[in-house]
Amino acid sequence: MRLTNALYGKFQQSPDRRVRKESYLALHKPYLAHKNMLASSYSAIVKSHIFSARARNYPSTLHAALDANNIPVEVYHNLIKTTRENTGPLQRYLRLRKKILNLTDGVFDYDLRAPLFSMEQKHYSWQQATQMVMEGARLLGEDYVQQLKQGFEKRWIDVYENKGKRSGAYSSGTYGVHPYVLMNYNGTLNDIFTLTHEMGHALHTWYTINNQPIVYGDYPIFLAEVASTANEALLEKHLIDNAADKQEKLALLNTTLDGFNSTFYRQILFAEFEWRSHELVEKGEALTPDRLNELFGAIYQDYYGGEFTVLDETKALWSRVPHFYYNYYVFQYSTSFVASAALVSKIIEEGQPARERYLDFLKSGRSRYAMDTLKRAGVDMSSSEPVLRTIKRMGSLLDQVEELL
Ligand SMILES: [Zn+2]
Repeated sequence: MRLTNALYGKFQQSPDRRVRKESYLALHKPYLAHKNMLASSYSAIVKSHIFSARARNYPSTLHAALDANNIPVEVYHNLIKTTRENTGPLQRYLRLRKKILNLTDGVFDYDLRAPLFSMEQKHYSWQQATQMVMEGARLLGEDYVQQLKQGFEKRWIDVYENKGKRSGAYSSGTYGVHPYVLMNYNGTLNDIFTLTHEMGHALHTWYTINNQPIVYGDYPIFLAEVASTANEALLEKHLIDNAADKQEKLALLNTTLDGFNSTFYRQILFAEFEWRSHELVEKGEALTPDRLNELFGAIYQDYYGGEFTVLDETKALWSRVPHFYYNYYVFQYSTSFVASAALVSKIIEEGQPARERYLDFLKSGRSRYAMDTLKRAGVDMSSSEPVLRTIKRMGSLLDQVEELL
């Protein structure tokens, strides 16, 4: 059988450790075999970033990359520093994995995606899916739910897979017309999360174009994934609170915790690698494959802690992440995750005032710098407060799991 990327994703979630391990080793084998080419390719893009930054008189590549959205470099450094100082919940999650999966020889990278608790695979009709998305978003208020309903009823969405249709899911908007959403709906719970994610983008577009002139009628990427992940967080909360039984609740908590690993901690770890590898070249060092693997492996070990074994394959994992060619892009996954987690927890705690601020955020489009838009919504990304709030939330999710065990 040929190991494809899609199959790899599936194998990594297998309860059979042998399947996870062998697919992990097999996928990384060609990356190790081509390490010289991959390192020189990455080194070339880093050098091109340095050239551009210096040609424009920026003190560093990080300054140059963040300036377009007027984000202070301190936000980036602060994010990494605060997270590094608070890897406790991540390592606690790892110990929980070790215990539940009975991993007596320690935790490896191929143990991080296996489900801890399984849930009956249900099939949801499209009608049920739209209903669940609306129920999940109820905390955002009546107007938001009505706009969602309008989107479902007025056929903004191309729902089902079809001959020749592209894969995945997207939302796209043009000023003056309602947004369009593409899906390949298949009736899984995962598809419902995809739907609420894409509708988060769609409604962000819809609120923006109805409240802003055309020049401000879209939004920067730094904000885009906030609106979509906020919807996911709300749906998650709704489903956890209304789980039918203990098993279902545990499975949902498991999925939520995996998100903290993959979209928060792991992306910050990636962001740190990206920054430190640029810094090495800026100081005159060469990015050899060994130097890159050593750097990546050391950061991975720091975040995941002593119970975790970093394999040679894990050290070379950086070389299969295409985002490292996007010039300081990955940190935005974690900032979006942090910002939406903070916004959602404020809506849950404060209700109406926080909800109003959230809707204002959706209506802001590009009329202010992203940092200012978030600040008005109640999230100051230049402080460590939202990051600490996110980390605390992970801790309380872990408490919930341990209470149920
Ligand atoms: Zn998205």
